[in-house]
Amino acid sequence: MANVKSFLNLECGLTVPLLDLKAQFSAIRDEVMPALLAVIERQQFILGPEVEELEKAIAKLSATRYAVACASGTDALLLTLKALDLEPEEEVITSPFTFFATAGAIWNAGGKPVFADIEPETFNIDPAAVEAAIGPRTRAVVPVHLFGQMARMEDLLRIASGRGLVLIEDAAQAIGARRKIDGRWRMAGELGWAGAFSFFPSKNLGAWGDGGMIVTQDGALAERLRRLRTHGGLKHYHHEEVGTNSRLDTLQAAVLLAKLPHLGAWSAARREVAARYSEELSGVGDLVLPKVDQANEHIFHQYTIRTRRRDALLEHLRARGIGCAVYYPTPLHLQPCFAGLGYKAGQFPEAERASREVLSLPVYPELDHAAQGKVIDAIKEFFG
Ligand SMILES: *Cc1c(COP(=O)(O)O)cnc(C)c1O
Repeated sequence: MANVKSFLNLECGLTVPLLDLKAQFSAIRDEVMPALLAVIERQQFILGPEVEELEKAIAKLSATRYAVACASGTDALLLTLKALDLEPEEEVITSPFTFFATAGAIWNAGGKPVFADIEPETFNIDPAAVEAAIGPRTRAVVPVHLFGQMARMEDLLRIASGRGLVLIEDAAQAIGARRKIDGRWRMAGELGWAGAFSFFPSKNLGAWGDGGMIVTQDGALAERLRRLRTHGGLKHYHHEEVGTNSRLDTLQAAVLLAKLPHLGAWSAARREVAARYSEELSGVGDLVLPKVDQANEHIFHQYTIRTRRRDALLEHLRARGIGCAVYYPTPLHLQPCFAGLGYKAGQFPEAERASREVLSLPVYPELDHAAQGKVIDAIKEFFG
């Protein structure tokens, strides 16, 4: 929970925080507060009209026919994976370099996580490694659109459809990101069997608490997900199957609806901040700057640099009051809870090297020129 705290509280008092949600709030306060008050006055807190309205808006944004809101990004993955009805020992391939929830959801849905290494330049799963990891028990692949740019969906789709596998996009960090495939822009969440979004407060579209959403083109899947999120039944006290309680609060839907019209401008502002970093930091020390795959429009959930002197740079920046963080310090195949899967250090060299070298810098839309200058100066000072 240290991370959650640092997003929300501990960043106060820093010279430049990693993320400044208070700045965002003060800019949109007059839009969000009346929307919240309207829900409170109506007292319809569970699956109120705002939830449906948000589902329609996110489906439209993602170019999908359906969207189903739920309690978190983790549940968006978990409910979708449950809808696969995995048999024991059936496998789901994913990246070892992602937030824990991706593999945790596979495990909790009864599947066996199988990892495939990443591409060093984008940090996204390597389609060739996915192909090599497919076995007789593989059912699905969960690519993660890490840090805000999409994985190579066209290659993954070709591999998955050739082998009869299902593709589930972990788009928790990539809402509104897109990729040009065969000359046409395709949205994060549009092309997989399903796409999972998170509205965790620090995500590009963040609620004031937990929240998530699944998008899909498959009407039968959407209906199944609606059932699973309300204890497996759409009619009261009639349960077709065992589901759970995983809904998006009406209050959170109201917050998200008020924020959604700003998302495009916020992502554009993040791209501008990123462009300045990439200009100013090019050639500094041994830094490797984030590479945008030319087919992608990146939404820069994170601006993540690499250096062999990562730990020393992190200490240097923290000492100067600059918020920065390591996403992710331990690849998932080396997590203690997955020791039983039998992976060893050295098996996924790119994910392991990324874990040692990455550092994410402040890249939020409200970051002003002067504050960003302090980050840049501190990094240049470090490399002397
Ligand atoms: C945030 C995140 C999740 C989980 O979302 P929650 O809403 O926090 O449950 C899953 N996958 C990735 C890649 C994430 O960044």
